[in-house]
Amino acid sequence: MNLCNLSVIKSLMQDAGINFRKEFGQNFLINPMIPSDIADSCAESKDSLIIEIGPGIGCLTQELASRYSKVVAVEIDKGLIPILEKTLSEYDNITVINDDVMSIDLKELVEKYSEDREVCVCANLPYYITTPILMKLLESDVKFKSITVMVQNEVAQRLCAKPGSSDYGAITAVLGYYGSIQKLFKVGSGCFMPPPKVDSAVVKINIYDKPPKVPKNEKLFRDLIRAAFEMRRKTLLNAVCSKLPHLDKKAVQDALALIGKEENIRGERLSTLDFINLADALS
Ligand code: SAM
Repeated sequence: MNLCNLSVIKSLMQDAGINFRKEFGQNFLINPMIPSDIADSCAESKDSLIIEIGPGIGCLTQELASRYSKVVAVEIDKGLIPILEKTLSEYDNITVINDDVMSIDLKELVEKYSEDREVCVCANLPYYITTPILMKLLESDVKFKSITVMVQNEVAQRLCAKPGSSDYGAITAVLGYYGSIQKLFKVGSGCFMPPPKVDSAVVKINIYDKPPKVPKNEKLFRDLIRAAFEMRRKTLLNAVCSKLPHLDKKAVQDALALIGKEENIRGERLSTLDFINLADALS
C-alpha cells in the first residue's frame, strides 16, 4: 500500500470516518521520496531503536521499520490508531502508543524498548508544538544518539543560525549545549496534504556524548539565555538585570568583563559557550 498516495490516504481516512485535524498539525507526506530519505539519514546502526513522534497513517513508520530493528511510534490522535493497525500490520517490530508525546515518560519508554540499542528520534513534527517537543527531548534524561526532524523551514534556519544573526534565538543557544545541528534538505509545501502555508526542512541534531563544557549552575545558564532573548532589543546587561533582579548589576558587569565581552553587548551575539562562561563567572 503506497501511503503517500492521495487516494489511498483519503480512502483510509474515509473508511475510519475521520478527517485531517488541524489542531494536531496534521500535514501528511504525499511525496514517497521524502519519508524514504528521512529514514535513510536518521540512524547509523541498523540495530537502533527509533522513536517516532506522530506517525499519522504510517508512511515514515514503514520506512523506519524496514531499515531499523525497532520502532516505537507515539500518536496523539486516537482516530488514527485503527488505520495504523491496518497499515503497519505486516511489521512485527513496531509498537504504536496512543498518547501525547508531551505527557509521556521518555526515560521509562526507552528503558522498556531499547534493550541496550542506540536510540534515535525521527519525526515529521506537528508544527504547532515543535519547540516544546524539541526542548522535552533535549532536556529528558535519555541519551539519544540523534534527533532527525522535519520542521518549518524558518525554524530550521533558527536552529542552525550562528550567533549575531537575526535568526539566532534562545533555542539555538540552548541547542548548542546538547549537540551539533545540520540541515539535511528542504521540502516544498506541495509534498504534503493538506499543504502547509510554508516550506519545511529536515534537520539532524547529533547529540554530544559529553557537552563541550558543563555549566556549574545549569539553571542560571538557562535563565540567562531566556532573559537575553525575551528582551533581545536591550543590551544583555539590562535584559539580565531586569529579568533576573536577584543578580547585582555590578556583578553582571564584572562577569561580562571577565569573559571578555563589552558591557553594551546584546545577548544574540553570545555563543552557547559564552553563556556557559557567563553563568560560571556569576556562580
Ligand atoms: N508522520 C506523518 C507523515 O509524515 O505524513 C504525519 C506527520 S503530521 C505533520 C504530525 C503528526 O503528529 C500527526 O499524525 C499528529 O496527529 C501527530 N501529533 C500531533 N501532536 C502530537 C502530540 N502531542 N503527541 C503525539 N503525536 C502528535
